[in-house]
Amino acid sequence: MKYELPTPDATMAFGRALGSSLRAGDLVLLSGPLGAGKTTLTRGIADGLGVGGRVSSPTFVLARVHPAGVPGVPLVHVDAYRLGGDLSELDDLDLDADLERSAVVVEWGEGSAERLSADYLVVRLERREDDVRIVALEPHGTWAARVPDLRLAG
Ligand code: ADP
Ligand code: MG
Repeated sequence: MKYELPTPDATMAFGRALGSSLRAGDLVLLSGPLGAGKTTLTRGIADGLGVGGRVSSPTFVLARVHPAGVPGVPLVHVDAYRLGGDLSELDDLDLDADLERSAVVVEWGEGSAERLSADYLVVRLERREDDVRIVALEPHGTWAARVPDLRLAG
């Protein structure tokens, strides 16, 4: 499943649609090079989840918790690049959130975050030469059954 995202707003809208479908315990891995739109997408996801707090790149803090809106689930936004690919460290970060009760979004998570769960969604972002972003969804485990139900903007 591939979509074209012509503007940052389109990336936000895509994230919002995805975020509004997330549940506690969900794991989403954002893949794509620097500047592909991972943090922008996370902003949309946060908006869709209705969580509070400004979303910025977690590069320097490794992980940031956005408390749950009402009702809703918290968002844990992780930068696996800085975590050195060992996501078992996540548990040692003493996050003010239970991963099982949060939606967990991991930038640069491919190749390491899979160890957290057999059920995860990879969102692959590419930057085309004309600056349009192409986003592809790769569901794993139980996500395979959920992806067709996502109402994502094209
Ligand atoms: P990453 O977290 O992957 O490094 P960012 O989310 O910080 O990327 O986005 C990098 C830049 O790309 C930002 O200036 C953002 O506004 C822009 N951007 C995001 N999505 C799009 C899009 N669909 N089209 C054009 N520019 C975009
Ligand atoms: Mg980023």
